[in-house]
Amino acid sequence: MTTLNSRVPEGPIKDKWTIYKDKINLVNPANKRNIDIIVVGTGLAGGSAAATLAELGYNVKAFAYQDSPRRAHSIAAQGGINAAKNYMGDGDSNYRLFYDTVKGGDYRSREANVHRLAEVSGAIIDQCVAQGVPFARDYGGLLDNRSFGGVLVSRTFYAKGQTGQQLLLGCYSAMNRQIARGKIEMFNRHEMLDVVKVDGKARGIIARDLVTGEIERHSAHAVVIATGGYGNVYFLSTNAMGSNATAAWKVHKKGAFFANPCFTQIHPTCIPRSGDYQSKLTLMSESLRNDGRIWVPAKIEDAKAIQQGKLKPTEIAEEDRDYYLERRYPAFGNLVPRDVASRAAKERCDAGFGVNATGEAVYLDFAAAIQRYGSEKAKIQGLHNPSKEEITKLGEAVIEAKYGNLFQMYEKIVDENPYKTPMMIYPATHYTMGGVWVDYNLMTTVPGLYCIGEANFSDHGANRLGASALMQGLADGYFVLPYTIGDYLADDIRTGKIPTDSPEFDAAEKEIKDKLEFFINNKGTHSVDYYHKKLGNVMWNKVGMARNAKGLTEAIEEISEIREDFWKNVKVPGNLNELNPELEKAGRVADFLELGELFAKDALHREESCGGHFREEHVTEDGEAKRDDANFAYVAAWEYTGKPSEAILHKEQLEFKDIELKTRSYK
Ligand SMILES: Cc1cc2nc3c(=O)[nH]c(=O)nc-3n(C[C@H](O)[C@H](O)[C@H](O)COP(=O)(O)OP(=O)(O)OC[C@H]3O[C@@H](n4cnc5c(N)ncnc54)[C@H](O)[C@@H]3O)c2cc1C
Repeated sequence: MTTLNSRVPEGPIKDKWTIYKDKINLVNPANKRNIDIIVVGTGLAGGSAAATLAELGYNVKAFAYQDSPRRAHSIAAQGGINAAKNYMGDGDSNYRLFYDTVKGGDYRSREANVHRLAEVSGAIIDQCVAQGVPFARDYGGLLDNRSFGGVLVSRTFYAKGQTGQQLLLGCYSAMNRQIARGKIEMFNRHEMLDVVKVDGKARGIIARDLVTGEIERHSAHAVVIATGGYGNVYFLSTNAMGSNATAAWKVHKKGAFFANPCFTQIHPTCIPRSGDYQSKLTLMSESLRNDGRIWVPAKIEDAKAIQQGKLKPTEIAEEDRDYYLERRYPAFGNLVPRDVASRAAKERCDAGFGVNATGEAVYLDFAAAIQRYGSEKAKIQGLHNPSKEEITKLGEAVIEAKYGNLFQMYEKIVDENPYKTPMMIYPATHYTMGGVWVDYNLMTTVPGLYCIGEANFSDHGANRLGASALMQGLADGYFVLPYTIGDYLADDIRTGKIPTDSPEFDAAEKEIKDKLEFFINNKGTHSVDYYHKKLGNVMWNKVGMARNAKGLTEAIEEISEIREDFWKNVKVPGNLNELNPELEKAGRVADFLELGELFAKDALHREESCGGHFREEHVTEDGEAKRDDANFAYVAAWEYTGKPSEAILHKEQLEFKDIELKTRSYK
């Protein structure tokens, strides 16, 4: 085991980034024209990086497996994006955003990176407004903010329930400008299947044209991975169905360490699963917790009657409801962080108080907010003695203006009107804080190989606060990577084009072709989904919201058995040289089957509870997560050595010089 060097610059935390930028090497504009950069992934992280690097003058080759960057999973982001602008005058500052993020991540993130994130957050909003992103505005025309979990200020900028989509359109316009100038060459419908290293440095990739099946070689002076998170290792998640870990896992196998794989976020407000044939789960944005109150029946007999369909939530009197978050966490109430809210929901449901037929759901209720907003509107409109119906109508209109598309989505899926009856929600896999380890420069342990956005192990420690993923992805792409990569590339101005006819490219291409041919020729008995679901079941039941040593040990064993069976009996229909979604999935599930095992191994070794990682053996008397700072205040970065079970642990010790290490409390 070695201790990792995070290359955090010297100096006081608030000056580190400035000092760093003043001192790094720069590449002059004429030389940038001779340098190629590959960006894999064009969601918010990769798209913003590609656009900015091209604007700076580098030659960018960008890759995405969808038919357009506009379809990246980032489009699904609903709630908003954080920035410490303090537009609401409620006491926000860069320091508070930094503090909230480190605390929210349960003190398992790198202070210097998080501070830099807070510092550049304001610039992201300015950049996006300049691009024309239609953020919500208040009555006076200023940008509006709302609250998200784990903080006591309103710092979330939003565009109705479509923030990711609008940000992505802004980013896509910036990319298009560069595509039109010829500075970005866009490879849609291309999947990166491996990275190519030459003399120890990342110098290119092997990609498959998903339409023709052709295997292609692409070279560059540096490679950036921006391929999103690995939540689909659980099969069911709120991620897009195509989201996968292949790029991140392939670079791991080529020498990039993989950090904290067990740090996964289970989001508290998702539509509960309805059966075994479901292929995806749907998020109800955290923004709904601004106005929705979460509860279950206080009496077990009421819960049973609801589960049997004999009682309706609207028939339960106020005093017979248990607003358990408000009861347990009076300071933050319904706006506790996601890990805390998810565990509290599970606790109530495990105790028998769940509210749908499966007993795995709690209510998210807008009745009080509708009445509150309705009364306020009636006053503004000068209505004297308005009737309950009038107030309800006015209140529903306010709720519709704020969350209309989310309510409509809920109604379409569940076939119940959430204005009239509380929504049902339950936790689901949503985001992965773990990922490829990167230093302060966002460079992996492979020189010239960078990783940004959700794909890296990021700034969120063991739990991400709502609306901070978009902030991090865009910070990485617009404002951090464009500086740090220049410092590295300054040494490459005389290198010239990287040839693709080298033995390294030959070997990488051969390996890929052999594997693809194996899948087509195996003619096994079970579909790829059959294995993916089996893996997902093990992950959810034994490596999910609550974990223990026995379950994790079993999971490691079971995952390796599923993997063995997969390689013997998987069946992939169709051919190599055509559009073949089953073949695409086969490669992705093969990688999930390895990643899942490392994930469980990481969870087993981390003998503490922190953030989204909840070990049943490490709990305080009142049921909260119990951290072990003396032994586990480090990033666990794993080195691949041939098998996930044999991965070697490297530690990056975390130092807390500017924030005091405390027990997290939201009470
Ligand atoms: C339903 C939902 C709602 C969310 N809402 C919010 C929110 O309100 N606020 C917030 O801050 N966060 C939110 N998040 C989280 C946030 O959306 C994501 O973390 C973020 O968008 C990830 O961006 P990214 O650019 O890193 O990756 P993605 O947007 O996932 O993009 C990945 C890109 O990589 C490409 N790619 C992947 N693998 C390959 C490969 N092998 N070869 C080629 N290309 C590849 C894809 O084509 C795509 O272009 C939400 C997440 C979900 C699931």
